[in-house]
Formats: sequence, structure tokens, C-alpha cells
Amino acid sequence: MFSKVTIIGFGLIGSSIAHALRANKAAGWITCADASQAVCDIVLDKKMADEVTTDIAGSVSKADLVFLCVPVGAMEDVVKMVAPNLQAGAIVSDVGSVKGLIEGIFAKHLPKGVHGIPGHPIAGTEHSGPESGFAELFKGRWFVLTPPKGADRAAVDKLNALWKSFGSQTEEMDAAYHDKTLAITSHLPHLIAYTIVDTATQLESDLQSEVIKFSASGFRDFTRIAASDPIMWRDVFLNNREAVLDILARFNEDLTQMQKAIRKGDGDMLEEVFTRTRKVRRAIIEAKQETPEDQKLKS
Ligand code: NAP
Repeated sequence: MFSKVTIIGFGLIGSSIAHALRANKAAGWITCADASQAVCDIVLDKKMADEVTTDIAGSVSKADLVFLCVPVGAMEDVVKMVAPNLQAGAIVSDVGSVKGLIEGIFAKHLPKGVHGIPGHPIAGTEHSGPESGFAELFKGRWFVLTPPKGADRAAVDKLNALWKSFGSQTEEMDAAYHDKTLAITSHLPHLIAYTIVDTATQLESDLQSEVIKFSASGFRDFTRIAASDPIMWRDVFLNNREAVLDILARFNEDLTQMQKAIRKGDGDMLEEVFTRTRKVRRAIIEAKQETPEDQKLKS
């Protein structure tokens, strides 16, 4: 499908894309560009790409597809670096968890004739680095494209087809709508998990050891989410600030209602909420959006 694909940032998502490209024979040549020599050495050693380089700027020459797989806070610097070396007609896409920011960066820095099409695989694990990736990561998961107005249809369709070949279901969406949606489905849950786990670490030491011992009672599931990459998540919150603050305000209101129900002994309200939320869980299972990892956690 593509003759040369350059993947910049060879962590969980970048390396998973390389594996998926290989598994689907979708690229004639894969270049891995990563600022870290240690990462490049691993990629070379494990033969995960055809070529590795720490020269990010030069890595995109002759590429017909470039994937930016670095934390969202690093995207602008990387785009500025590669822009002068991109060939006309190339597709530049990304996998960042915030899309409004990327649309702006592409519009500002990509040269005319290069197709900037932001995207986001709704797939991941709490692991990072080049050895954490695997080809099946995107299988059965959603991939959201947020093409800007006036984007080249053939380029969008080509990128869409690639993600479908990885086994993803795809959907096109406005970038702002994506950021609002992900604020509730992903960003707020991560914030809650980070906060709960941090609250537990501030407890008196005797209670802290009980938290680990009895973690299977609920806490453990939060620790998996709260083990996610700190840099990635710092950047998500800093760059989707408005949408996260909006949803956080609503969440705080609802939490206060729950607090009130507990204080007043309003069992009906608690039962009503807990019954509603059970249905959401069933809907997720029916939509096959539960991962094998979730299954393991339950066992
Ligand atoms: P990761 O495993 O931590 O890999 C990030 C890569 O980016 C590493 O190779 C890192 O190099 C490189 N990098 C970091 N800062 C950089 C900088 N300033 N300039 C150049 N390269 C830099 O992260 P990931 O999970 O693959 O996430 C990558 C992107 O995917 C992020 O934008 C994230 O929002 C998005 N995403 C993540 C998930 C998920 O669940 N993890 C899901 C969907 C989308 P070093 O190792 O040398 O620092």
C-alpha cells in the first residue's frame, strides 16, 4: 500500500504500527526514527524496521507515509523538524490522543502538497517502549480519523484502508468532537485512577500495606490505568484542558450528589445509579470492546 513508511517515536504505538505493517505487508520499507540511540539499538537488534536512525529530520525523505508517534507535547517540534524534507503527495498522520492541537500544528507547519491527516487509535496498554508493541493491538479497536475541511479524499481513503487492514474499525470525526468524547471515555477515567492511587499512597503506612494486600477488591483495576506513561498523560491533560475541565466539573457535581445520597442514607438513589451503570458495562461487552487484559483482571 505504501512504498516507504517512516515511524517517528518507536514506543508502544509506533512499534505496534511497524508490526502491523509487516504482518499485513502494507509497506515496502519501514524506517524507524527515534531520538534515543538505545531505542534504535533495540529496534535494529529485534529487526523491527528496515532502517533505524536518530536523524528525525532526514528520516522522512522519500517517505509516502509518515506516522508521528511521540507524546502530543512533542508533536510541534517534530513536525517543524521534518517539514522541509517531506516529499509532495506524502501523507503525514499521527496517533496522538488529542486531535484539535494536531490539526492546528499540521495547518501551520506542513508544506502545500503534503496531506496532513490526524488520527487516533483507541487502543493501548499501560506499557511503553519499543518492546511493548504487537501487531494485534489495533484488532477490533476503533481508529478515529479527523481530516481537516478540504482534505484530499484519496489520501484520507488510503489511510483509512490501511487502518482497516490492521483490523481496526474506523470512523471520521471532527477534531473538537473527538477531544470532547475522549475527555469522558479516556481522559477523565485516567485522571480518576491517578488520583485514587495517589490518595492511597498518602495514607498512613499501616493502611498502605493493606491497600496492596486487598487490592483485588477494586483498587487493582485502577492501578493498571494509573501505571500509564506519565509524560504521555501529562501532555494529554495540558493539551485537552478545556474539554477535560468541562467534564471534570460535571463529574464533581455528580460525585457531590452521591456524597449527599450516602450522607442522607438515600439507598434508592444509590441503587438507581448502580443499576444504570451496570447496563453500560453490558453494552461494552456486547460491542466487543473488552480486552483480554480486562478478562485477566477479573480472573
Ligand atoms: P511511548 O511508548 O512512551 O513512546 C513514545 C515515543 O516517543 C518514544 O520512542 C520516545 O522516545 C519518543 N519521544 C518522547 N518525547 C520525544 C520528543 N520530545 N521528541 C522526539 N521523540 C520523543 O508512548 P506511546 O504509548 O507509544 O504513545 C505515543 C503516542 O500515542 C502519544 O501521542 C499518545 O498520546 C498516543 N497514544 C497512546 C496510547 C496508549 O495507550 N499508550 C493509545 C493511543 C494513542 P524516548 O523513549 O527516547 O523518550
